[in-house]
Amino acid sequence: MVCNVLEYLESAKQTFPEKCAFADTDRTLSYQQVEEASKRIGSGILNKGIKQGAVVVFADRDLESLLAFLGIVYAGSFYVPVDINLPEKRIETILQITVPECIVVRKKDRAAAENLFNGEILILEELMESDIESEKLQEVRAAHLSTNPLYIMFTSGSTGVPKGVVVSHGSVIDLAEQFNDTFSFTAEEVFANQAPFDFDVSVKDIYLTLKNGATMYVIPKSMFVMPKKLMGYLEENHITTIIWAASAISVVCAFKGLEKVKLTSLKRVMFSGEVLPVKVLNYWKEHLPNTMFINLYGPTEITCNCTYYVVDRSFDVEETLPIGRAFKNTRILLLGEEGKEVKLGETGEICVQGSSLALGYYNNQEATKKAFCQNPLHNLYFDRIYKTGDMGYYNERNELVFTSRKDHQIKHMGHRIELAEIEANVNAIDFIRKCCCIYNKQQEKIVLFYESEEPRDVEIINRLHEKLPKYMCPNKMHWMEQIPMNAHEKMDRVKLRELFSEV
Ligand code: AMP
Repeated sequence: MVCNVLEYLESAKQTFPEKCAFADTDRTLSYQQVEEASKRIGSGILNKGIKQGAVVVFADRDLESLLAFLGIVYAGSFYVPVDINLPEKRIETILQITVPECIVVRKKDRAAAENLFNGEILILEELMESDIESEKLQEVRAAHLSTNPLYIMFTSGSTGVPKGVVVSHGSVIDLAEQFNDTFSFTAEEVFANQAPFDFDVSVKDIYLTLKNGATMYVIPKSMFVMPKKLMGYLEENHITTIIWAASAISVVCAFKGLEKVKLTSLKRVMFSGEVLPVKVLNYWKEHLPNTMFINLYGPTEITCNCTYYVVDRSFDVEETLPIGRAFKNTRILLLGEEGKEVKLGETGEICVQGSSLALGYYNNQEATKKAFCQNPLHNLYFDRIYKTGDMGYYNERNELVFTSRKDHQIKHMGHRIELAEIEANVNAIDFIRKCCCIYNKQQEKIVLFYESEEPRDVEIINRLHEKLPKYMCPNKMHWMEQIPMNAHEKMDRVKLRELFSEV
């Protein structure tokens, strides 16, 4: 029984020591090299006497970040990828929540790390020079449980601070098993990684590669603004499967990226994160008639995806793609207002059960209890469900269809954002009396309405840039003497929406 993801790496290394595991535009790393470097990093961390726990990694889109993750796992700890380009204040918040004993950074980021963190800063290049401590590594492995955390991914939080989703080895193993059973991956697979490593879409690329002894190419971010070059890159490297955010799939369509290049090796196009417009799907299908298209659905809290839909028919542009059916070992409950299952065809909140459920939000019992709770259908034993906040229904073909969110969580440029988190940060500014964010999906704009003595757009945006990632900052600002309220004395979002069309 596999209970540690490192067993995937070690088994692949046994079978294909010289085969390329991870590559980018400049170089490749064989399974042998990945295992050796990760063991060195793990040994280096153990030699520093670091207690097992959360280890923050300042991650970039590079092969070293992958080695750092696996090295941390060898040391019996779990990794927390943090994008080095985030505003300092946000990194500080993540560090305050995580309270790591150490952080792992590249040599070039040492000064930045020292500014942000008082604890032990380990330099990756130095860790990679460590001798392999086989006995210590073995001791760590012997004590390992599949319920141990593997990583923490931070996502936007409605209370104004990000939430760290803690995911175990067991959940990732469950994911890899289900994907393999359902989509029949083999060692011949070549994955093209699009998602940053602090975004859980990348978890599928990494662990499906290791599980299958396959190969994964890390595509530079810059290529996504040059879709034709990107497609050439996929063809050149014989990519067989892409597992991308729906937003990235849409970019290729927007720039007509498939016009000139034939993707002769591409067998599967998998997408997730938000509703993929049918016109985008149809564009891809038209150019790749023999490729399988799969809509994957799920939040980070259930380890990437809990349902899938293999596109098996044609859709008109005004139709919505279903999110399909649950993976094996996963159950979907559609719950109504009173916590009862809705009738067939009715819309309810999508709730998920199974071993793919995350361990909760790190250092945040309150948020954990709210979202991960007892199955309200009985009280006979502890039966955890995760309430996604997504609404859905079963269509006449018995396929699950996503309809909307229950709350003010949005997807913007592929990122999951709680509008309430932006509002909390605006409200924290001393001169703000009140504020409200709305999202205009058609125009892809976050609009901030705020009340204060006088308009102070620039000051607000500058203050937000210090705390929030760029993609969370409002695209439009609208000062108001008074924000309209509805009959329940709540800010009138409907009215504000109407106003936005005039702004
Ligand atoms: P994240 O945790 O960033 O993966 O975001 C999860 C949220 O994205 C879900 O709760 C949904 O609201 C949305 N989502 C993910 N996949 C899909 C999909 N295939 N179709 C529609 N919405 C999706």
